[in-house]
Amino acid sequence: MNRDFLQELGLRADNDGTSTGTSSHHNPGVHLSSYSPVDGQLIGRVSVTTREQYDAVIEKAEAAFLHWRSIPAPQRGEVVRQYGQALREHKDALGRLVSYEMGKSLQEGWGEVQEMIDICDFAVGLSRQLYGLTMHSERPLHRMYEQWHPLGIVGIISAFNFPVAVWSWNSMIALVCGNVNVWKPSEKAPLCGVACQNIWAGVAKANNLPEGICNLINGDYQVGEWMTTDTRVPLISATGSTRMGKIVAQTVGARLGKTLLELGGNNAIIITESADMDLVLTGALFGAVGTCGQRCTSTRRLIVHESRYAEVRDKLAAAYGQLRIGDPLDQHNHVGPLIDKDAVAMYLKAIEGIEAEGGETIVPGGVLEGPGYESGCYVKPCFFAVKADSKMARHETFAPILYIMPYATLEEAIAIQNSVPQGLSSAIMTTNMRESELFLSAAGSDCGIANVNIGTSGAEIGGAFGGEKETGGGRESGSDSWKAYMRRQTNTINYSTQLPLAQGIKFDL
Ligand code: NAD
Repeated sequence: MNRDFLQELGLRADNDGTSTGTSSHHNPGVHLSSYSPVDGQLIGRVSVTTREQYDAVIEKAEAAFLHWRSIPAPQRGEVVRQYGQALREHKDALGRLVSYEMGKSLQEGWGEVQEMIDICDFAVGLSRQLYGLTMHSERPLHRMYEQWHPLGIVGIISAFNFPVAVWSWNSMIALVCGNVNVWKPSEKAPLCGVACQNIWAGVAKANNLPEGICNLINGDYQVGEWMTTDTRVPLISATGSTRMGKIVAQTVGARLGKTLLELGGNNAIIITESADMDLVLTGALFGAVGTCGQRCTSTRRLIVHESRYAEVRDKLAAAYGQLRIGDPLDQHNHVGPLIDKDAVAMYLKAIEGIEAEGGETIVPGGVLEGPGYESGCYVKPCFFAVKADSKMARHETFAPILYIMPYATLEEAIAIQNSVPQGLSSAIMTTNMRESELFLSAAGSDCGIANVNIGTSGAEIGGAFGGEKETGGGRESGSDSWKAYMRRQTNTINYSTQLPLAQGIKFDL
């Protein structure tokens, strides 16, 4: 494996894990070792942030906030523009690191960096559009309006599967809003965090910015808990499992802090009688096996009209037979590894559970062995026919496991789709306008994302991204998601010589 990209990103075999932007503190104590799921090799080590270092980072961030918030928003946007430019220059290397450390295909690694670049562009435009409303006051010679101010420190906790893009969705928007951020990446992909921080350090230095605007801390959930319990961090944006989100919501809620939660999904495609089969096959296959089934928007369930059920099952089974599984940096392969052996164990346990509840195997699973599969993380994407009330299909197993189930009426299909606890992404394949409109109506999909004739995965940054129910309710990225990173202030100004009270109240002395 050619590892030149590590050098380009400023990564050494033994990296530092805590940084406030332009310099770093070395912690010779505990380390996170990052092993690649691609070949099982050690990529590098990152030192775990100590409590003392954490407090120093927060103090630096607090001081940096006072400076950063005073810079006009469009000038903050200019710094973000430069960060986007730096990402363009390092796109190849950073995409390779994402692919090598996380295991997604090189195309998807580059795609993730492209998403970062796109969100920078979006944030630059947004830096001139942080609009508030003006209202008509009920009192004479008064003016009333609202404005948006930054919150302070935004704490970002991210998952392993999008090890760079999720941070940028949060941080680039938070930055133009005038916030500073502290990022705790997943302990399963820590080098991606160090690489993004190194690129930031170059931009910060070129602009003579102080340390503490973008900050990095590293470790497992315990380091994350320092932030969730810390009243100096007014907003926690957490991406990961529903299990984690429930704990984070309660911890931050107990101190009445704000949370933005992006949690698990259990995404379905409804395939109707009139569906275009070419779209179905591409959408379902990429949705189910892309990123080895480790996207929050991965397709996990196909709910198929009984008249098309056998056709979808058989054509998709044939398409599974064409998949090439192997090194994700080799562009001939379609499917790379799972993140680690724990994920492989969960995948195998889920298959056992499906078989135990009577699921019918259409494409069998299994762990791959032999040359090229030495890491032990390569598994076969698999496909099962289950009943609509399958218990296993209610869970998000973060692996390439697809369920298929039949339906008779569209109302029934929508009810099956909405019957799971999660509410992230959904799709319908139809050429019937009445069906697509019902699916998109208030009586249709209950998810944060509802698509017609495209699959469940692959959202664009321009829309608000997130989901309902156990997905956590947060919205990130485009549309007006920026409002989550700001506080709204209503201002009323009296330019008369009287002091009339609202609601006509008299208070004569
Ligand atoms: P995870 O929940 O195991 O970990 C996510 C992050 O939370 C890690 O950084 C971890 O250290 C931290 N963490 C865990 N417990 C914590 C606690 N008690 N306090 C503070 N921090 C804590 O998730 P994962 O395995 O890395 O990622 C997979 C999950 O993420 C899937 O469920 C997937 O659907 C979800 N996900 C959701 C979205 C979305 O936008 N909705 C995006 C990506 C991933």
